[in-house]
Amino acid sequence: MVQLADPVAQGKPGIPPRVGERLRPASAQDEATAPDDLDASFGRLANECPNLIGTLAGTFAAEGRSHAIPSFTFRGPGDGFAQRRIGFFALLHGDEPAGSTALLRWLELLAAEPALAAGYDLVCYPVCNPTGYARRSRHNHAGLDLNREFWRGSEQAEVQILEGELRKQQFDGVIALHADDTSDGLYGYAHGRVFNENLLRPALRASERVLPCNRRAVIDGFTACEGVITECFPGVLAPPPDQQPRPFEIIFETPALMPLDKQAEAAQIALHAMLSAHRGFIAHAQHL
Ligand SMILES: [Zn+2]
Repeated sequence: MVQLADPVAQGKPGIPPRVGERLRPASAQDEATAPDDLDASFGRLANECPNLIGTLAGTFAAEGRSHAIPSFTFRGPGDGFAQRRIGFFALLHGDEPAGSTALLRWLELLAAEPALAAGYDLVCYPVCNPTGYARRSRHNHAGLDLNREFWRGSEQAEVQILEGELRKQQFDGVIALHADDTSDGLYGYAHGRVFNENLLRPALRASERVLPCNRRAVIDGFTACEGVITECFPGVLAPPPDQQPRPFEIIFETPALMPLDKQAEAAQIALHAMLSAHRGFIAHAQHL
């Protein structure tokens, strides 16, 4: 059960934001949303761009105040096929801001050129772990690694909010953005499915013009090939286990010790490459 914040406990007047409420302008969002100005930047972009809709996926109370997990949906123009919906998740580990920065830059690009997202609703969750992000820690306020908590009955509010979104949205694909301080290059998890690999490989090839790809035989304790890992830790953020047909799912990792700017640029290129590859497969399937 997700706890909604108690405005009295916050010591502030007013009613806390509810699930689905449109995110307020950056100037007014001081009580429950932004631990920093990163999601304020998303809010500003949503206010400027008619294609981008900002809401709160959910709120929860922790450490005597209210926290929110925002969501921003970019609605691309139609392309003649059924609109596909992809979920993008960043800052599940609060000390990995590159993925969120990449999403912001990508959305800025799409705001200027919406046709790049034709056929897609891109649902972005730029701050999945707001209490971790506030203290720049991997773990949340309870000291837990949220990326080991999914689909195993977690009591963590962040996980319950995000699991609810994953059920409600029924994404066609899920992309999680992370950064690894033990890797000197880009890599990703394809979860043992060829389709995922077919999206991840072109993303790695495109993004390695900015940062090198990690070509070690073992990455993060798993066997890897050309930066692609097919296994994964249990409990990572993923589509609902019973969702059919299975959405694609990818974890894209940037090397956390490299400059943030380069990580964000590489991840942004990867996002665009994955969308292009997916569009190619959809178009091909329609013509079979
Ligand atoms: Zn991570």
